Order: sequence, then C-alpha cells, then structure tokens
Amino acid sequence: MSSDRIVGIDLGTTNSLVAFMEGDTPVVIPGDDGLNLVPSVVALDERDQIIVGNSARKYLIETPERAVYSIKRLMGRGIEDIQDELKLFPFRLAEDMQAGEVLRIKLGDKTFTPPEISAFILRQLKRNAERFFNAPVTKAVITVPAYFNDAQRQATKDAGRIAGLEVLRLVNEPTAASLAYGLDKKQNGIVAVYDLGGGTFDISILKLHDGIFEVISTNGDTHLGGDDIDNLLIRIALDDIKGDMGLDVSRSGEAVATIRKAVIEAKIALSAQASAKLDIEVPGGKRYQREVTREQFEQLIQPIIDRTVGPCKQALKDAKLKPEQIDEAVLVGGSTRIPKVRALVEDMFQRKPHTDLNPDEVVALGAAVQANILSGGSEATENMLLLDVTPLSLGIEVAGGVTDKIILRNSTIPASATQYYTTQVDGQANVAIHVLQGERELAKDCRSLARFDLRGVPPMPAGMPRIEVKFLIDANGILHVSAREQRSGKEAEIEVQPSYGLTDEQVESMILDSFDYAEEDFRQRQVIEARNEAETIMAALDKGKKSPAWEQLTSDERKRIAKLQKALNQVKAEDEYQAIRKAIDALNQGTMRLAELMMDSAVATALKGKTIDQADLGEGPQSGHPVAKADFK
Ligand code: ADP
Ligand code: MG
Repeated sequence: MSSDRIVGIDLGTTNSLVAFMEGDTPVVIPGDDGLNLVPSVVALDERDQIIVGNSARKYLIETPERAVYSIKRLMGRGIEDIQDELKLFPFRLAEDMQAGEVLRIKLGDKTFTPPEISAFILRQLKRNAERFFNAPVTKAVITVPAYFNDAQRQATKDAGRIAGLEVLRLVNEPTAASLAYGLDKKQNGIVAVYDLGGGTFDISILKLHDGIFEVISTNGDTHLGGDDIDNLLIRIALDDIKGDMGLDVSRSGEAVATIRKAVIEAKIALSAQASAKLDIEVPGGKRYQREVTREQFEQLIQPIIDRTVGPCKQALKDAKLKPEQIDEAVLVGGSTRIPKVRALVEDMFQRKPHTDLNPDEVVALGAAVQANILSGGSEATENMLLLDVTPLSLGIEVAGGVTDKIILRNSTIPASATQYYTTQVDGQANVAIHVLQGERELAKDCRSLARFDLRGVPPMPAGMPRIEVKFLIDANGILHVSAREQRSGKEAEIEVQPSYGLTDEQVESMILDSFDYAEEDFRQRQVIEARNEAETIMAALDKGKKSPAWEQLTSDERKRIAKLQKALNQVKAEDEYQAIRKAIDALNQGTMRLAELMMDSAVATALKGKTIDQADLGEGPQSGHPVAKADFK
C-alpha cells in the first residue's frame, strides 16, 4: 500500500499502542523490543536524550527527577485543576509557572508541556510503525476518553502535530473498543464498555442505531485501577517483611521497586493460574517468600473492584436504562484480565462480556478500524459514520455573569446551534463573547474556554443590535464559535483555543524544537539558552545596581554579588551549559534580597500610579457582555 497509510493510536495513561488494518483485520504493531505495549513513560537520559517506553522505566526509580509517567492526567489542564494529581503523583512543575499558563513539567533541567511529553510517546509509536512499514507514517487516528473536554482534546491534537502526525480524527475510547468487536454490524443495540486500566476506571454506555455509535452516558473514577491493586500488595509485603524479619524497607526506593515488580508479576500470573509465588530478595541477603492463592487475592482486591459498581449504576441511571437492557458488554483495560473483574461485569450487566480481543489492545485496534474507514475503507467499513456526544454543555456569559447554554451536554456531534443576543448599553461598540463549558448557572463556576470581542458595532440604542452567536462542534469534538451583528454585518470568529491550550505559534515552535532533538544539537541549544539567560540576569543586575535598593544592601552583600557575577561572566564564555546554569542559580540566590527590595519599591510606585494607568487597562467604557434576547428568532 501507499505511504499515506493511516494508523490508529491508543495514547493511554499507563500504556500506549499503535495499530493498523491488515486486510480486514486490525493488528497491533510491536516496538523494537517485540512488545506491543509501550509504557507511557518519558525520561531524559544523562546526555539529555529523550527515552520512551520500557527503557524509560528504570529512570523512574534511578533518577525520578528526569522521568515522568501518567502525563495524560495533565493534558489540557491548568494548575488549579490538578491539585489532586500533584498530591498523588510526583509531577515536578516548572518553578516559574503562572496561573492561567500552560503547565510545564521538569525533566532534569528542561521543561516540557504535557502535549510535548505526549508527543515524545507518539513519536516513538510513529517510529515503530515506520520501521514496520519501512515507509513514513504521517496520519493517525488517536483515541481519547469519552469525558475529555475541549481543552483535553485540543491538547491531544496538539501532541499529534508536535510529533509530526496529522490527526485525522479523535475517537472516544469506548467507541473504538466497540468498533474493534465489529459491534457496528449489529445495527441496533445498547453497549456497555467497562474500562479498568492502570490508574483510571471508565464506564460508558453507547447506543448503536443503524451503524452509528452514540455515547449516551459516561462515568468512572480517575483514581482507580491496577495501580491500586499493586499498591495494596506492596503494602502487605512491606508489613510482612517488617513483621517477619524486623526490617523496614519502605523507604528504600530500590527495595520498593523490586517488590512492585514481583507483586505485579504475581498479580498477572493469578489472572491465569490458581496460585502464585512471591520470592523477593530483601536488602541484607534475606528472602521474602510467600504463596498467594487466587482466593486470597480475590478477597484482598474485592474492596478495590467494588468501587467500580457505583459509577456503573450511575451511568445506567443517567442513560435511563436497566441492566437487563444492555445488549453487549465490552471489556477494556489490562485489569479486566482479572477473572474476578470479569465476573463482576457479567453480574452487573447480566451478560457475558466480550473477551476475544486483548483488553489492553482493543482500543488501539478500534482506532485502526476507524483509520481504515477514514482512508476510504474496505467493503467491511464502508458507509460507516461515528457519532459521539459532547460531555458538557457549552455556552456564553451574558450580562450579570450568567451562563447561557447554546449546546446542551450529551448532544450528538457534529453539532451546531445558534442563539441571538443584543446590547445592554446605548451606543455599545464592542460585545465581549466569553465561551464557557459546564453545567453551572454562573459563569464563574463554569470552565472558561475562550474570550473574544465582536468589535465595531455601529452606534445603536441598547436592545437594537441583533447579534447572532453560532456554535459548531466538529467531528473531533472541537468547538468553533462565530458572532455576527446582523444589521451591520460585523463579524468575529474563532476556533476555540482553550484556556491552557497552546497557540498555533507555540505548537509550531514546539514542532521545530522536536526536530532539534532529532538533530541531536540539543546540548548546543542548551548552551545558547543558558548564555541568553545569563545575559538577561546580568542586565537586570546592572539595572539593580543603579536603583536605590542597591544602597540598602550591606557592603558584604554587595561584595558577594560582585563575586558571583564575576564567576558567571567567566563560565559564560565556555561551552558547559550545566556550569552556566549553576552560576546563574548561584547569582539568582545571591541577588534574592536585592530583587525583593527592588520589588517593594516597584510595587509602591505602581500603587501610586494606579489611577493614571487604569484607564488603559479596561476594554473601554462602551463594552460589555451581551444580553440574551430570545424573541429575535
Ligand atoms: P491504561 O489504559 O491505563 O493505559 P492498560 O489498559 O494498559 O492501561 O492497563 C494497565 C493495567 O493492567 C496495569 O495495572 C497492569 O498491571 C494491568 N494488567 C495487565 N495485564 C494484567 C493481567 N493479566 N492481570 C491483571 N492485571 C493486568
Ligand atoms: Mg486505556
């Protein structure tokens, strides 16, 4: 086949995979280690090269400050969204992060945004596929959880672009899983997709009518999965080791890592056999040995797997369905290999779930089916259309800080809707359109997706302008918004760049950056960047020396700063960026008090000048949010 083969990608929290359609059958493409699953782990090695997958895992233990996992949790999210994740996961944010900015994660002394880190994973999958086909691969279908909002979907698309992949379609994971089982050929029915992965649980109820899938409800728990089972077993082993041998190894990262590896192996073995042996070498040369039967294991994990019941019931309730109305149940996620989990699903939906396909591959396989449909398809996939629903309502802020919904949640996409508004003040020239996502009544309680202005409305009395606001959600779940004043024809339009989203320019520059890694001129760039930073800090220091704050320092402090500056000046000319960074950090530390003193006086000045500057800050006196005006229609 030609080189524009389209691949299907499951970009998972724990594992990622790439698949393609071979004839009528979707197949997973293995990596050069022969394994189908690429762990979603990214590390920066000693030479600042990016490592992805199995080989990156050892960095999680050896140099955790140079490695990151579970990055999917941060995609399209802001610093205020992720406080829970920061408590549970060792994400290291860049120190200079501002609220409202796209997150940046530290790997070594570099920082990357979540889409860039995901792009490293995608790049690896792309490379695996290119090696397999011996041809370039530039187009992909990528799956996302059904509940992903606009920002999370955009971030996933951005990751694709940064990795050099044109993302033809984002497909909901449960939809992909249903496709992999060919359930679309059933014409009509209700499908429950139960997805228990490494760290997340998702339940989705899909309705199939005439070959069209519609996600009618979703629920789940973003902190529930195989990791919880692993952690429970580790805790038990640690307690045993302490009790039996009087040895507390819970603080040794290496010992815990060894135990983790052993319990995961035992867990996986117990999915296929009646018992498994734990045999762990404990520091000090002793061995911890224990036999675990499946029965014991099942008893231990019961409370964990029981936590999936509530979300399933809620999803059924939201879909207004009874368990017996489910026609098909599909298992997704590695943890559904556990027989006890299968039994629970069977019990809950009162039917045997599909188990023919590997649960950790089924989403990627479905993505490959969708890729095949988009590439013109085979006879098997002809005339198929996939429909998804938007998980949250979308609307705009109207006068008084109220949310006016334009597209309601659970609307089938692609979707479009139009509402009419007018102005609140006589002669109002600008109308501020604030795009919101969420179910709450007040704009401040909803997620802010974007803001833009409809400018240059000709002067009219309040209530006269007829402003048409149109929302369109495309097949990827991405929102386009336009506003038009109909009497004058004034128009404004945007594809929503979500808050915490990257701008086109940022994505472009990240694409260029990622080429730099391929070119291996990373170190040189580091040197240049470090030198630039050195210049900046020294220019700031020169300014500081002329400020009154300088005089407030003790002569000792001034001497110390001069010494640090001299040191930085010296290493700056050399080619060692680590040395330059170190000198920068030292100078930064040394000038902390100077900076504080300068800041204090700057704040004082700013406060004094406040009334003068303020006129420039607002949008202008004649601007405001629109007013709902339903009777225009
Ligand atoms: P995600 O969708 O979160 O990326 P996966 O679907 O790949 O994750 O699931 C990974 C989880 O499945 C891990 O916790 C792993 O230990 C678990 N797992 C994989 N195989 C088995 C098995 N045979 N028995 C039990 N758990 C398994
Ligand atoms: Mg998954």
